[in-house]
Amino acid sequence: MLENLTDRLSRVVKTMRGQARLTEANTAEMLREIRLALLEADVALPVVKSLLEQIKFKALGEEVVGSLSPGQALVGVVQRELAQIMMGDTNQSGELNLATQPPAVVLMAGLQGAGKTTSVGKLAKWLQEKKKKKVLTVSCDVYRPAAIEQLETVTKQVGAEFFPSNVNQKPNDIALAALDWARRHYFDVVLVDTAGRLGIDEALMQEIQTLHTSLNPIETLFVVDAMLGQDAVNTAKAFHEALPLTGVILTKLDGDSRGGAALSVRQVTGVPLKFIGVAEKMDGLESFDAQRMANRILG
Ligand code: GDP
Repeated sequence: MLENLTDRLSRVVKTMRGQARLTEANTAEMLREIRLALLEADVALPVVKSLLEQIKFKALGEEVVGSLSPGQALVGVVQRELAQIMMGDTNQSGELNLATQPPAVVLMAGLQGAGKTTSVGKLAKWLQEKKKKKVLTVSCDVYRPAAIEQLETVTKQVGAEFFPSNVNQKPNDIALAALDWARRHYFDVVLVDTAGRLGIDEALMQEIQTLHTSLNPIETLFVVDAMLGQDAVNTAKAFHEALPLTGVILTKLDGDSRGGAALSVRQVTGVPLKFIGVAEKMDGLESFDAQRMANRILG
């Protein structure tokens, strides 16, 4: 079991032996504990470093120094700081942007196994039930027939419409045919699933860039597995450099990861987190909540 931040800081406060106030020395000790807590939660090192600078500045400010329980006050500062980073600019809506001439195209990007196909199913369900939208799904993964079948299965499971494709077609042709079908049949949203690789790969990036250019999606969602931990940052960077991402879905938060990837990915790309995956099943999708994620990261 990882020690949570409140316990860590209370431990430091106890050793302060009645010093009610924070000093340079005991602040340094507390910052060390905060650093460890963030690293254990899988927040990437450069992100931890820049965060600590900001926290240090605030920790030595009135709010914490004058407080009767500096440990508790410091936890509050850290929590607010993390939530603030993940919330970002309040003008950026956490919801899916569908404000366009229908059909609104949503392009999914991410490595193989990240949870793209599952997330397409979950989003289709969410869009139908919560937003009353008519949803078409399509798979441009021409490398794995099983991926196309998997998308068909989840789409049928949630009662949306599936646009068939096969491995002999070109991803771009599939995407354009699906878009044409969606236009002619008055779909509100087209969810486009794409191929993923096990690692970042030039050919994969070019393929998804081509798809992006021809589809002109209103949302390009980067799907990333929370269990990737520190590696999530490099993957996010690579996809962000290749594509104008508009949102992130962080999956598999039902696992035991603390979710530090949420913070790292947000800090490194500046792209808002929109949803989290909390189960394999189709209702396992929740809107992203920065406050809750900050609490989770701190344990
Ligand atoms: P893709 O290769 O990116 O399309 O990934 P998939 O959608 O096929 O997902 C890979 C695996 O992760 C599958 O076994 C999914 O059931 C599982 N998965 C996806 N999202 C979640 C989630 O939020 N929680 C859990 N526990 N499993 C998930």
